[in-house]
Amino acid sequence: FSQDEVRVRFAPSPTGELHLGGLRTALYNYLFARNHGGKFIVRIEDTDRTRLVEGSADRIRNILSHYGLKSDEDPWQGGSAGPYTQSERLPIYAEHAESLIDSGHAYRCFCSSNRLDLLRKNAAREGAIPLYDRRCRSISTEDARKRAENGEENVIRFIMDHQEVGFEDAVFGSITQRLEESDPVLLKSDGFPTYHLANIVDDKTMRISHVIRGMEWLSSTGKHILMYKAFGWSTPRFVHLPLITRDGKKKLSKRDKDAFVDYYDKEMGVLPQAVINFLVRNGSGVKDFDLSKLYTLQELVELFDVLLIGRRNFQLDADSLSQYGNAAFRSASD
Ligand code: GLU
Repeated sequence: FSQDEVRVRFAPSPTGELHLGGLRTALYNYLFARNHGGKFIVRIEDTDRTRLVEGSADRIRNILSHYGLKSDEDPWQGGSAGPYTQSERLPIYAEHAESLIDSGHAYRCFCSSNRLDLLRKNAAREGAIPLYDRRCRSISTEDARKRAENGEENVIRFIMDHQEVGFEDAVFGSITQRLEESDPVLLKSDGFPTYHLANIVDDKTMRISHVIRGMEWLSSTGKHILMYKAFGWSTPRFVHLPLITRDGKKKLSKRDKDAFVDYYDKEMGVLPQAVINFLVRNGSGVKDFDLSKLYTLQELVELFDVLLIGRRNFQLDADSLSQYGNAAFRSASD
């Protein structure tokens, strides 16, 4: 990795309790930042208003503090800039979406939800993938501007033709994605950005150098790359992390109580340090991890290497986690 300033972020959506997968993503970002003398930033991605859970953002921040993973740019956690909460940055996203209209990479779409529903139904009947038919692409920018100024409801869509996009991922190597989607929405009619727009505008404006996140976002990355290009921006480096699964298959979900960080902390009484050791050992990232040892966060900062992360999903194994709990109790009482 280059010696340029390293700035990474953990960008949770406050849609429920933080689970071990989220904590691991935060931890890897933190270790990577500290290991490179960079900055670790927490950003709350709360633009999907339908999925918000009351109090979730504060609970996530509390857990991160409790685990020692404090944001360098959040006054709430002792930093100087920030904090970053997307719902408080709406004008920034609108401005960026409009700039893409000006540069010919986006357009206003006035199609009603009835019309879009009809397109979806027709596609379903024909067994086709429901794609927007790009009708509003043909409206002139000037006409569209007038209609919007007259208060006609609209969304802003990104012009995205079917194509292949290639990029490098630090864990998964060279990836080629075939984009089949039709002109994704950037800005919704209520002025909120979609996840994709907010995510890349923030990564750019916060000068994020490395995007380290769960591999469920790998499939969105090709689309993000095209958006970076449309803005004329260079892309950050991508590091996608394999999932934490159970029994070799199941992705952890919000219903898996024993995947919640709080469960180990409050109900099982496992020390944060033990959970952190479990996550690094289980996910690798540290060479010659000594299982008989309980590493401090500082020791892990020195040992951590993102290039040692493997591609296999990590098994959540509650038994081995509780052994860590026991070890932690022993070392605390010795
Ligand atoms: N807000 C996304 C999530 O909750 C994170 C996406 C990202 O890290 O780019 O998983």
